[in-house]
Order: sequence, then structure tokens, then C-alpha cells
Amino acid sequence: MSKIAHYLQEHLAGEVMTSIDARRYFSSDSSILSIPPALIAYPRNENDVRKAARFSWQLAERGRIIPITPRGSGTDSTGGAIGEGLLIVFPAHMNRIIELDNKSGEVTVEPGINFGKLEQTLQTHGRYISAFPSTLEYSTVGGAVAKNSSGQNSVKYGSIGEYVKRLRIVLANGEVIETERLSKRELNKKLGIASFEGEIYRALDALIEENQNLITSMERPITKNNAGYNLIDVKHKDGSFDLSPLFIGSQGTLGIITEITLSSDVFNPDTSLIMACFDNLDNVQVAVNSLRSAKELPRTIEIINKGLIDAVTEVNPNQLKDLVPTPHPEYILFVEIDNHSERGQKRTVHKITKILEKLAISVEIETEQDIQQRIWKVRQASSAYISHNDGFKKSTPIVNDSIVPPERLVELISGANDIVNQLNMSPFAIWGHAGDGIIRLQPHLNLTQVGDRQKAFRLMDDFYKLVISLGGSIAGSAGEGRLKAPYLEMQYGSEAFSLLAKVKQIFDPYSTLNPGVKFGTSMDDIKKSLRQEYTFGHFYDHLPRS
Ligand SMILES: Cc1cc2nc3c(=O)[nH]c(=O)nc-3n(C[C@H](O)[C@H](O)[C@H](O)COP(=O)(O)OP(=O)(O)OC[C@H]3O[C@@H](n4cnc5c(N)ncnc54)[C@H](O)[C@@H]3O)c2cc1C
Repeated sequence: MSKIAHYLQEHLAGEVMTSIDARRYFSSDSSILSIPPALIAYPRNENDVRKAARFSWQLAERGRIIPITPRGSGTDSTGGAIGEGLLIVFPAHMNRIIELDNKSGEVTVEPGINFGKLEQTLQTHGRYISAFPSTLEYSTVGGAVAKNSSGQNSVKYGSIGEYVKRLRIVLANGEVIETERLSKRELNKKLGIASFEGEIYRALDALIEENQNLITSMERPITKNNAGYNLIDVKHKDGSFDLSPLFIGSQGTLGIITEITLSSDVFNPDTSLIMACFDNLDNVQVAVNSLRSAKELPRTIEIINKGLIDAVTEVNPNQLKDLVPTPHPEYILFVEIDNHSERGQKRTVHKITKILEKLAISVEIETEQDIQQRIWKVRQASSAYISHNDGFKKSTPIVNDSIVPPERLVELISGANDIVNQLNMSPFAIWGHAGDGIIRLQPHLNLTQVGDRQKAFRLMDDFYKLVISLGGSIAGSAGEGRLKAPYLEMQYGSEAFSLLAKVKQIFDPYSTLNPGVKFGTSMDDIKKSLRQEYTFGHFYDHLPRS
């Protein structure tokens, strides 16, 4: 063990490891990248996190950088949960529900709690957090907040960030702060504090005041945007101020989350699920536009295409048998409605069905949960697609989670189809959150081969340029991490990019917090840390959901 590991082991209540096995295990997340950490710590409490940050800061003051990467379950597919310094792994110990207020539905948790476990507990109290990622069964709440994750219910319920009430954060220098919405008076008090927290408030307040127009120009006509930092929601017209939006989606680059208070919804298991099959993309777009402008929003508008159904059927002919009409439709939309009142739900279903019947070739409505599960199997065919591999040829997560304005979904899908065709990549399987303008396509590539590596980089380049040209964002349902970091400046332009870099500088002057994530990763860096034998590895205990 190094001197640093000895020091930390002596001062932390939690364990510290440097074994080759542990370093190898933690050298990857769900991305195609790999970076082995120097050491790994399993904090037992906030004090451990505070000490680790303080130690890293003091070393940095003396010119030695041992950066910190916080980690939940490591399902990040952008290389956000790997780093070369100290990995702080939360699920081992910091995984408790601290408080659940039955009246308000507010729940306070440690960051390493499994998202699925939290949902199970909430459901026993008749509550539920509707904005969950597909990976909820094998990922943490801390990771979800740090990525501002969202999933199949995002059309109506948005992202997890919208549920965050308060955060406890360990800053780069080890100071602990609490963030929540502050009144103008409370902000003035913070501005007067002599600590690092006070410095942050002062610098940020000035930065926001001086750059109002630039900040407004960063807004996009999209439903969610996790690229860079959310400066737009920090200072409000009434003078109130909240640092939380900056930490939400920051992927551990501004501070380390040690406690989260979330609101929750009333759990409603009685929903109506509609599966509508289409034979052309234009009608899909009309349907999405109409559903989004309906008075009562459905909670879910998901999409899959024929390429996905064909690919899954080829590998496993029985998986979708009797569930999908033959010949396979070009596109399927899954629409779920969850109004709490039975009458209201029936009314919404009736209206939506009328819209869909004009546009789709078939429409099936289900209210029975058992049958709904069968329909969901069709949407979840993407799990089979991403899990299947043919030797080293694997479904490769390189262009996930980007977002465009929902009314430009057709342009995104057609453009992506053209790119994939030009690169001779088949099948063109897509799926995603159509209601938000988010699609996923994970082509099967063999990254051990030069030709496929070149294709992967061409695809990334063409796809992200397409997304940006459509007024979208490289990071929709989760942050951009390392993988998409080279495109951040392209999305916002150099002036706004410099502003975001200043935000990073304010919180993390020595760049000890997850460096290389969001900033400081070039395409060459990505090529160097490419995991040629990319695999889901440790996630097969669960059915990888996408
Ligand atoms: C098959 C598949 C499907 C996916 N589907 C979705 C989806 O539907 N929607 C979606 O949003 N995402 C999705 N993801 C991405 C990912 O699963 C989610 O974003 C998830 O919420 C991350 O949780 P985690 O515990 O694995 O976090 P990790 O991967 O461990 O960490 C994620 C990021 O958060 C940072 N972080 C973790 N804990 C903390 C902390 N305490 N303080 C500060 N920073 C921290 C890490 O440094 C990292 O940058 C998918 C990934 C895969 C592989």
C-alpha cells in the first residue's frame, strides 16, 4: 500500500483498498472507457468523505493531485464513474434511508442506497418516485441525482432533479454545506460568510449577474438538458437562490453528495397502457406532437423500431412471438396513462385512442397488470439486444441519451438512419423516450478491430453534430461524462463554454473533483482509454435495462 493509502486507512472509519483485483474491478463503469483508480475507499459516513476531500485538497495545495471520483453502482455509460485517483464507493455503507415523513412524502437518504430498494420501501407507504432510470434495480439514488437521471415516465414527471428538495454536499476542500432554495435575505447571509461556502456564493452570484444574457442564450427548446451545469435555475426573478440545480447532473465535478432529501408521488398502480403500431415515421411524429399537447399528459411515450424487433427475433425467435403483429411494424409507441381518478383516466385514454387510431395501423389498450407486463416485454426487447453478443461484436453504448426538441424526433431518427447506413452498420435498432425526443442506438461493433473503432468514432461525431444542429443537447436523460465532453463546446459555443469552465473553477479550483468529466477530455484521451473488450461485466446479475 502507498503512503497515501496508509494515511487514509488510518484516518477513515471505512476501508481503503489498493489491491490489483479491486483496481481492475473499478477500472470500468458501463461505458466503453477504462481508467484504473489508484485507490478505493468505502466511506462509512460523511465524516470519511469530508476527510478524504480535505486530504486531496491539502495535497493539491502542495502541488500533488490525487483526484476524487464519487461512485454509486457504476452504471454510468459515459465514463463518469471512473477516475485515476481515489474512488469513493458509496453503496457498501452509505446506503440508508435516514428519514421518511409519511405526511409530506419527503424522504432523506444516503447516496449509496439502491434506487429500486428505495422505491420498494416507498411503495409500502403508498408513495413512489416516478422519475426513475431504467437501471433502478442496480443503480443508486446518489448516482441518479448526480446524473439527473430520468426514464420511461419522464414525459409527465421529468427528471429526478425535480424531486430534490435538499442536498448535503462535501465541497472540494472538505467543508460540508446544505443546499436548498434560499430567500433573498438568506442569500445575503450566505454572501457574508467568510468560508469557502461564502466564496462560492459570492463568486456565483456575481457570475450570474454579469452573464444574464449569455446564460439565457444557453437555453434549448428541449424538455431536459444535462450538458454542462444548470445555471438557469440557480437565481430566480424574486432574488431567491439555490445551489442544488448545479450539483444535480454535475457528475461529481462540483461536490460530493452525502445526503439527499426527495419528494415523492402518491403511488398509483392502476394505469392504462396503449401499444400502437405504425407503418411510417411521419405518423409517429404527428402522434407524439398530439399526445404532448393533450390536456392530460401521458406519463410515458416510448418508442422502438422494426430494426430492434427483427434483431431480437433473429437471435431468439420466441421472445416476441404472439406479442408483436407480423409482418413487424416499422415503429411501435407505448403510451401509459396514470390519472388518479378512474373517470379521468378513462376520458384521457378515450381521447388518446382516438388520436392514435387515425395514425396507427393497430392500437391495443390494456388495464390488466398481467397483460401490461406482456406488452412491456416488447419495449424491453432492448435488454435482449444490448445483452446479446457475438464474440467481440457487442452492442456498444456510444450515442445514448442525447435529446432533441420532441417535434424534431423524425428528423433525428431519419438522420441517424442515414448515418448508420452510410457507415454500413446494421441492424438499425433504436428505442427510447419518444415523448422527450430521446433515442438510443447501440450498434453491434467489435472494438478490437480498427475498422469498427473508426466507425464508432465516425458515428459519435456525425450523431452528436446532428443532435446539436437540430437544437438539441448531447446530454438529455443523463450527463455527458467523459465520452461526450469533447462536444460540449460545440453545443454551447466558446463564450458559454468558458462560462461553464468558470463555474467548475469556482467550486473546484485545484481540479480534484472528477477531472476529465465534462471538461478536459479530448477525443485522443477517449481513444487512449477505450475498452476494446467492452462488456457489461458485473451487471449481468440484473437484466440490463435500457
Ligand atoms: C443499460 C443502461 C440503461 C440506462 N438507462 C438509463 C435511463 O433510462 N435513464 C438515465 O438517466 N440513465 C440511464 N443509464 C445511466 C445510469 O444507469 C443512470 O444514470 C444511473 O442513475 C446512474 O446511477 P449509478 O449508481 O450507477 O451511478 P454511477 O454510475 O456510479 O455514477 C454516475 C455519476 O454520478 C457521480 N456520482 C455518483 N455518486 C455520487 C455522489 N454521491 N456525489 C456526487 N457524484 C456522484 C459519479 O461520479 C458519476 O459521474 C443507463 C445505463 C445503462 C448501462
